[in-house]
Amino acid sequence: KPVIIIVVGMAGSGKTTFLHRLVCHTQASRIRGYVLNLDPAVMTLPYGANIDIRDTVKYKEVMKQFNLGPNGGIMTSLNLFATKFDEVIQVIEKRADQLDYVLVDTPGQIEIFTWSASGAIITEAFASTFPTVVAYVVDTPRSSSPVTFMSNMLYACSILYKTRLPLVLAFNKTDVAQHQFALEWMEDFEAFQAAMRSDDSYMSTFAQSLSLALDEFYKNLRSVGVSAVSGAGMDTFFKAIEASAEEYMETYKADLDKRW
Ligand code: GDP
Ligand code: MG
Repeated sequence: KPVIIIVVGMAGSGKTTFLHRLVCHTQASRIRGYVLNLDPAVMTLPYGANIDIRDTVKYKEVMKQFNLGPNGGIMTSLNLFATKFDEVIQVIEKRADQLDYVLVDTPGQIEIFTWSASGAIITEAFASTFPTVVAYVVDTPRSSSPVTFMSNMLYACSILYKTRLPLVLAFNKTDVAQHQFALEWMEDFEAFQAAMRSDDSYMSTFAQSLSLALDEFYKNLRSVGVSAVSGAGMDTFFKAIEASAEEYMETYKADLDKRW
């Protein structure tokens, strides 16, 4: 069975570019991939998608028809697509023997996927059928301040608890800024607290308590540095995905079977 990789992350973190990189990497390494685009509003895709939400729902028409703004249009398009998602699962199941990975791109604005009923329906449809892993893409250069870093990690944390799926943090754009600082902060919360103390704009006691809570969260995930532009970190990323897929089998699958 193929492993599903759902790529999420803040707008502009580089999800689509990263997906393109994953597609290039799989093709060059003879890994068999299948690509799904769930962003109805993207203008042009750098990769060829096997299944593209834009072939089924025209988000501009949805905006007109339901008298919605851009976000409402994207949300409603995803809702319409989610009602037919069993067909997508069937298509993938038919090809299951010939696939190693299914790569899933999600809408630019993270909450459209992670805080919507349709996002939950799509995620559960995948996770109840295939080993499924969430790849959380982080804009590394933009997360170099302790406060931004922490709010990004809190968001990742909420996704881990909401989906209950194994999570891989992909620190992207390492061609611009290395992710070493992030690894240090995650390994040693005192180093993080020290960095925050120098950030005097911040209410430090609250942040210190949060950093203790995050310490627990960090133990539950894998993190890798990548660059969607240069291609750095791809092998490490796929190793983390493999380990997470095993974790899915051991922990999440058993948990899911109980829930169903
Ligand atoms: P999305 O909204 O998360 O899908 O983000 P995009 O893939 O559209 O990328 C947003 C911007 O970040 C674009 O200008 C990309 O060229 C840029 N970008 C993405 N990945 C990288 C990377 O690894 N390095 C650099 N330097 N820029 C990147
Ligand atoms: Mg995108």
